[in-house]
Amino acid sequence: MLDIRVDNLRKEFDGGKVVAVRDLSMTFPAGTTTCLLGPSGCGKTTLMRIIAGLESSTSGDVYFGDERVTNYSTRRRNIGMVFQYPVVYRGINVRENIELPLKEERLSNAERSQRVEEVVTLLEMEDALNRDIASLDNGTRQKVAVARAVARQPRIILFDEPITNVDINAKLQLKRALKELFTRLNQTIIYVTHDQTEAMTLADKIALMRDGEIVQYDSPRELYANPGDVFGGWFLGNPGMNFFEGLFSNGSKAGANVSLFASPINLNGLTGGAANLTLGIRPEDVKISTEKSCGAVQGTVLNKSIIVGGQYLITLQVGDQRCKAKVPATVGRQLGKNAWVEFPIEKIRLFGMDGHQPEASLALAP
Ligand code: ADP
Ligand code: MG
Repeated sequence: MLDIRVDNLRKEFDGGKVVAVRDLSMTFPAGTTTCLLGPSGCGKTTLMRIIAGLESSTSGDVYFGDERVTNYSTRRRNIGMVFQYPVVYRGINVRENIELPLKEERLSNAERSQRVEEVVTLLEMEDALNRDIASLDNGTRQKVAVARAVARQPRIILFDEPITNVDINAKLQLKRALKELFTRLNQTIIYVTHDQTEAMTLADKIALMRDGEIVQYDSPRELYANPGDVFGGWFLGNPGMNFFEGLFSNGSKAGANVSLFASPINLNGLTGGAANLTLGIRPEDVKISTEKSCGAVQGTVLNKSIIVGGQYLITLQVGDQRCKAKVPATVGRQLGKNAWVEFPIEKIRLFGMDGHQPEASLALAP
């Protein structure tokens, strides 16, 4: 097991017009599955290809453990890779596909068989072993590609959106198989995806990427609960956080947020008279009721729809603000036009004007 370290890594394309990776320094810990998560075009594939040695960097270094591998060929780096489209060899069956690199490494027949057995059991694909590649759906083909990468027992395995192009009905099954595999493998894995639910399911740690930089590195739970900036709040969650911008001063109800709270709130740690802030709260943390409660303000239901899991997604107008709330079916069903809305203070995250968490130890208090 080795950690992967990139040091001040930069990649420019088109003579510097495009900066795909921006002076990035980061350690991907040994034995950890790190999901590199970010929107399309933020530089995930480029970063992965540089780590794999498929692309050279403009500047900076890549280390596997203490070894500087910046100038190593892909082969010399000894990594396993799985790409967006399954790489499989036609005309030979599944077993032969998985064995191919093992033959190149001149492993004994017994060792080869054992490696194949192991990985095939892990991925629950025993039944497919003797089948022709051409007869498989693309989910199973991708499993073959995964099996081949894993059976080599490389030091590091890199995945670039392996589920993205798999048929919708095979997706869930493949995701489950990968989850099981990652838990058992205990290997250093970087898994690139633009899909937050995939990252939340598979990752030990998420590296959230934006515009060639890693903006946050945390456990899925922590990243979701405490995004370091509005981007993380917006990108994670379905839908993402509600944001309310305004000018805050203590004790008063100044600013655009006047309508969010039933009573005046305080900003502990506020220096100076007032601060321009953005308040963020996740839709599932917004409380809604048909009955008035002490912390609640009045809102109007603009829209309600049933979403995954039977929950209701409610769009509300609260004063001059619009927001979304996710509520259980029992609550959603009862809601008419009027609702009482509460924004629990402990669920609110603060961001400064630059979109990042404020430096000072600012905190909301009743
Ligand atoms: P992601 O995998 O996150 O979608 P990429 O790493 O593929 O992002 O791309 C990052 C940026 O670099 C994008 O703006 C993309 O257009 C650009 N890019 C990637 N590869 C090349 C290339 N070979 N030539 C020019 N620009 C490229
Ligand atoms: Mg990509």
